[in-house]
Amino acid sequence: MRYSGLRVLAEGLRGNRGWRPAWRKPAPRPGYDAIIIGGGGHGLATAYYLARNHGLTNVAVLEKGWLGGGNIGRNTTIVRANYFLPGNSEFYSFSLKLWEGMERELNYNVMHSQRGLINLFHSDGQRDAFARRGNMMRAQGDDAVLLDREGVRRMLPRLDYEQARFPIYGGLYHPRGGTARHDAVAWGYARAADARGVDLIENCEVTGIDIRDGRVKGVQTTRGAIWAPKVGIVVAGRSSQVAAMAGMRLPIESHVLQAFVTEGLKPALDHVVSFGMGHFYISQSDKGGLVFGGDLDFYASYAARGNLPMVEHVMEAGMTLMPMIGRAKVLRSWGGIMDMSPDGSPVIDRTGVEGLYVNCGWNYGGFKAVPASGWSMAHLMATGQPWHDAAHFRLDRFRTGRGLMDEEGTGAQHNLH
Ligand SMILES: Cc1cc2nc3c(=O)[nH]c(=O)nc-3n(C[C@H](O)[C@H](O)[C@H](O)COP(=O)(O)OP(=O)(O)OC[C@H]3O[C@@H](n4cnc5c(N)ncnc54)[C@H](O)[C@@H]3O)c2cc1C
Repeated sequence: MRYSGLRVLAEGLRGNRGWRPAWRKPAPRPGYDAIIIGGGGHGLATAYYLARNHGLTNVAVLEKGWLGGGNIGRNTTIVRANYFLPGNSEFYSFSLKLWEGMERELNYNVMHSQRGLINLFHSDGQRDAFARRGNMMRAQGDDAVLLDREGVRRMLPRLDYEQARFPIYGGLYHPRGGTARHDAVAWGYARAADARGVDLIENCEVTGIDIRDGRVKGVQTTRGAIWAPKVGIVVAGRSSQVAAMAGMRLPIESHVLQAFVTEGLKPALDHVVSFGMGHFYISQSDKGGLVFGGDLDFYASYAARGNLPMVEHVMEAGMTLMPMIGRAKVLRSWGGIMDMSPDGSPVIDRTGVEGLYVNCGWNYGGFKAVPASGWSMAHLMATGQPWHDAAHFRLDRFRTGRGLMDEEGTGAQHNLH
C-alpha cells in the first residue's frame, strides 16, 4: 500500500477502514540467507538495503523487544554531516545525501527537517578549530558558514549573549543539518523492508550464535534455532554481550545517555544549537517541546534510565546557554544504552568468524548514520567487501593502532567521546 495525501483524504472519507498494518508479523522460518540481530535503525536499514541493493530478500531481522524500542526511538534526533577527519567525513556526507532522499525512497514521512545546525564557539582557539572544520566540510562538498556573534544573535535571539564566563564569539552554521522524527525512521525502514519480503520478527531474543569450523551456522533464539550462513550483529548498546556469544571481546563500553523534553512552547528556537562550552545540544520539536541532552552518565551500565547528577549537569548547561529554559517544565526524560568506542568512531566489519559481521560503536551519533550504515553493512554482508565510504571502520584499528579516528581528540577513553 502506497501512502499519499490523496490516500489520506480517501481514507478519511471512508472512515479509515482501508489501512493495512505497516508490516507483517511472521513466525520465524527454520532458516534464511541472512539474519540481522537487532531491529533498531541500523538493523532495519541493513535489511532494507540487502533487499533493495542486492536482491537478498530471504532475510530476517530478529528483535528481542519491539521495532524501534531501542536507541532509534530514544535519541535527540539530530541529523548532520559536519565531521572533520577523513574516514568519518565522507561517510556522514554520504549519509546526509541518503537522508535527503529518504522520504521519497521509503514512501514514508520521517519529518526530516533541514532547519540548520549551529555549533557555538566561545574563544579564539575554538573559532579557529571550527573554521578549519568548516573548510574541511566545504572541501568535500558539504555546507558550512562561519558566523560572528551578531550573525548568531540574528538567528538565535534567545540565547544569553551577556554571559561573562562563556561569551558567545560566533558559530559554525551547517544549513543542511537538522532533525527527523526518530521512530518514524525505524517504521519507514521496517515497512519498506517488509514490502520487499524481509521477515521482521519481534519478541525474538538471540541467546546464542552457532559456529562450526570457524563459520557461522545460525543463531539460538527464544523462539528456537534459526540457521543462516550470514549473520550481522547490529545491536548498538548490547554489542559486547551479543559478540561474547561468538567468543569475541569488542572494544566497546556501554554507557547511559539521557534526553529531556519540555512542555510545548510557542516557536522559540528555529535551529538546532550545540553549546561549545558544555556538552549540551537543543532543538524544538514540531509539537513545541524543547528537546535536549548532554553528556553520558560516565559509568558503564545497561540500565536504560539515567542518574540525577547528570540531570543537574544538563540543566545547568541549558540555563547557562539559554536562561529562559528555566521557565519551562520538563515533561519527560529517558535514557538509552550507547555503544561507545575508544576513538569515538564506529565499526562496520567482518569478524574472525566466516559469515559473521559486526556493526557497532555509534557513540553519541548513530541516528544520523542510519541510512549510510545500513547501506554499508548490506554491501559488506552481500559482497564481502567494505563499502568505500565506510572502509575505515575496521575492527583491527584498535589492535594495531593504525587508522584510529579520534574525532574529539580525547584519546582512548570511551566515556569522553
Ligand atoms: C538519549 C540519546 C540521544 C541521542 N541523540 C542522537 C542524536 O541527536 N543524533 C544522532 O545521530 N544520534 C543520537 N543518538 C545515538 C543513536 O540513537 C544511536 O547511535 C543509534 O540509534 C544506535 O543504533 P540503532 O538504532 O540500531 O540502535 P537500537 O535502536 O538500540 O537498536 C538495537 C536493537 O538491538 C536489539 N537487541 C539487543 N540485543 C538483542 C538480542 N540479543 N537479540 C535480539 N535483539 C537484540 C535491541 O532491543 C534494539 O532494539 C542518541 C542516543 C541516545 C540514547
